[in-house]
Amino acid sequence: TGPASADPSVISTMLTSYFPVPLDEEIIGIGVVVVDITERKAGEAARQQLAAIVDGSGDAIFGTTTSGIITSWNGAAERLFGWTAQEAIGQPASLIATADTVGVQQEMRGRLNAGGAHERHETTRRRKDGSVVDVLVIASTATDETGKVVGLSVIAHDITQRRAEQQALETSQRRLAAAQSNAHLGSFEFDVLTGELTWSAEYSRILGLDPSLPASYELFTSMVHPDDAAMVAGVRTDANRRVAFDLDFRIIRTDSQVRWVRTQSVPEFGENGAVVKVVGTMMDETRRVEADREQRVAESRFEIAFEQAAIGAAIADLDGIATRVNPSLCSFLGRSADELVGHRSAEFTHPDDVAFSHAAFMRMGPGHDSYADQRRYVRPDGSIVWALCNIALVRDEMGAPQYFFTQLQDITVRKVVEEELVQQALHDSLTGLPNRALLTDRLIHGLAGSRRRGTQVGVIFLDVDHFKVVNDSLGHTSGDDLLRQAAERIAGAIRPGDTVARFGGDEFVVVCDDVNLADTTQIAARVLEALSQPCVIGGQDVHVTASLGIAISDEHATPESLLRDSDAAMYRAKERGRGRVEVFDEAVRLKAEARLATESALRRGLEREEFVLHFQPIVDLSSGTMVGTEALLRWRHPERGLVSPADFIPIAEATGLIVPLGAWVLEAACRQLIEWQVTAPALTMAVNVSVRQMLAPGITRLVENVLLRTGVRPEDLCLELTESVFMEDVEYFERILASLKALGLRLAIDDFGTGYSSLSYLKRFPVDGVKVDRSFIDGLGTEPHDSALVAAIIAMAAALGLDVTAEGVETQQQLAILEQLHCGRAQGFYLARPMPAADMTRFLAASHRWKVG
Ligand code: C2E
Ligand code: MG
Ligand code: MG
Repeated sequence: TGPASADPSVISTMLTSYFPVPLDEEIIGIGVVVVDITERKAGEAARQQLAAIVDGSGDAIFGTTTSGIITSWNGAAERLFGWTAQEAIGQPASLIATADTVGVQQEMRGRLNAGGAHERHETTRRRKDGSVVDVLVIASTATDETGKVVGLSVIAHDITQRRAEQQALETSQRRLAAAQSNAHLGSFEFDVLTGELTWSAEYSRILGLDPSLPASYELFTSMVHPDDAAMVAGVRTDANRRVAFDLDFRIIRTDSQVRWVRTQSVPEFGENGAVVKVVGTMMDETRRVEADREQRVAESRFEIAFEQAAIGAAIADLDGIATRVNPSLCSFLGRSADELVGHRSAEFTHPDDVAFSHAAFMRMGPGHDSYADQRRYVRPDGSIVWALCNIALVRDEMGAPQYFFTQLQDITVRKVVEEELVQQALHDSLTGLPNRALLTDRLIHGLAGSRRRGTQVGVIFLDVDHFKVVNDSLGHTSGDDLLRQAAERIAGAIRPGDTVARFGGDEFVVVCDDVNLADTTQIAARVLEALSQPCVIGGQDVHVTASLGIAISDEHATPESLLRDSDAAMYRAKERGRGRVEVFDEAVRLKAEARLATESALRRGLEREEFVLHFQPIVDLSSGTMVGTEALLRWRHPERGLVSPADFIPIAEATGLIVPLGAWVLEAACRQLIEWQVTAPALTMAVNVSVRQMLAPGITRLVENVLLRTGVRPEDLCLELTESVFMEDVEYFERILASLKALGLRLAIDDFGTGYSSLSYLKRFPVDGVKVDRSFIDGLGTEPHDSALVAAIIAMAAALGLDVTAEGVETQQQLAILEQLHCGRAQGFYLARPMPAADMTRFLAASHRWKVG
């Protein structure tokens, strides 16, 4: 009985028939035909119609009785199972059941007979030829008018093909799942129509979820990192708008781990063009993203370091061709990046440095991936810059060379300073000539070379004569000028390979390799000749001469011996009148040796108190009385007897021994004066002081202390200084003399006239008197020139208010002339010889008076 009609009072009887509705071999539904059989006629027609439909179906359709006997068998059933309708009808349905499905078939029939709903299941069936076929079975009941089950209607649809496909699909899905899990690639599928979301097990694992948890968009979004949520949500909309997307974002797992994931998806479109599905993949890219980020950080760090570096940097390919340069390098080399990229550094390297830098480059290799050197580069303007060059070969993880990384540090300033320091350390700043250190070096090499070649080395020691005079009369600047010009002259006169060095002050040394004595003498003569031409200094012609000493090497020669011997020879040139050349020989050697012996003997003598003072009266020519006495030093040598100061004072001065010696003289003379003043209260004492003593620090303090200790009145002490004092550092001596003068003592210039001081010069110094040198007195009466000179000195000294003492008066005639010239005082053998203190004591007691006037 079918459903009620619109009119509830009418009851109709319906025949309901079902049939499969296939589409492309797939049964997509069951067709239902409901026939109102209230009128039988109409029912017959419908039945025939139904039979036609059943017969034409592509699916096997057969009917059975409730006990399972086949009652109908359509064409498709014949084709599917191999039995004809004739063969099948009347057979039990188990005919087509496989052994293992007979029971299932029976059970199903039981359920349907009992009024169960239609059944649908996939199973296997047996063909006539014994083969097995996979089928989808849909079985339903056929009822009579009363609704009683009278039979079964079965539709069997061949699903072998589908099964195979499905198995293949399942296999491929299993493989995909395996692949996904291996690749850590999760996948998801979103059905837009049903709103159903599925994702793979790997997808769950990536999210850190239990794979059994069902997929849900809410679950997914709850895991998206808050900072990325908006972006992810936006993409969902995009996906619906048919846009494929590829997105990196973060998720926060339930264990709060943050992971980077990459999701790629594509929409799938339905027939109407609307998005029906979104399928996609998800990959955990945390490691890659982090590695990328680290790489980016490293790269940007490198980038910044490279671009901003204060030192020049370049990257070059394995052929050494620059591929990248930084701005510092450009400015260092004075070239633009375009001018550098694509070129080798050798193109800009100083020609002299190309070979060794290339050699260093070639030494690079396994274990020698970097090296450093110092080299010069030439800029386009021709200027030269120095670089500390570091080159490193950069390899990849596998160790394969990738490129060269070069850094150039500008060390030009340092190099220039270094070169200057070397220059300064080895050269004289005034003349630019090698200094003593470099000279010694050249001598060592010269000697070594000459020994190999069997030749000799010649050394010329040169001292400019009277240099102090020029220096003081024309000024230091002119003095410097003179030394520079002298240096040039000397350098111009020697052979190209020879060395001229400034040894100190006004001393120069020439070293000539591979020469003999004759060659060296010739060179020395050329130097002397070159110097004889007047120098123009401050617009003034200045004539200079020099004293030269030569020494030639022998097999025992050392730099020291050659310098010492040539110096000794130069000494003799000075002694023999200056402006000449002397060769070191036996005589010079003996003299030099004697000097050396004297020096050590002097030291001993000072310790053993071998020194005594002699005293010589100074006579006032107007009264004929002794006004003073000069203390003259004597050395009572144990073997040589009484040694004259002329033989040891210069050595004492040269060695500095004069300083303690002079201090002793001063104190001894002052003590003696105090003793004599008991009987001769007006007596004064003159003490000789050498330049060297004046240069020693604390001279004023020393004199002051002696005066205090001995009790001598300052005005009773006269210090005799030689003119050389005034040729030294003028400003220094002005200061020292002023401080000595401030003590209240008197100052006199000894040996006046032998030096170069003029009387006007004396005005600068606080001196009280001059002692005219013996050499002028010598000629008095015989040399008209000397008489005139002495007359002039006496007159000018008087004008300046200075006392004049004549030294070395040996004759009555000299004394007479001096009296005539109104010379104030005199001293000399004619008046009295220097005598020991005891003799002087007696002399004083005798109150000797000289005949004058
Ligand atoms: P000086 O200061 O000019 O001393 C005068 C020198 O002339 C003395 O020589 C003296 O003996 C000598 N003499 C005096 N009258 C005559 C004479 O009529 N004819 C000749 N031919 N000579 C005469 P001495 O004592 O040999 O001293 C030589 C020089 O040594 C001194 O010259 C002085 O410059 C220096 N000297 C002497 N004692 C000292 C001293 O204690 N310290 C220093 N620094 N130098 C001293
Ligand atoms: Mg004197
Ligand atoms: Mg004198």
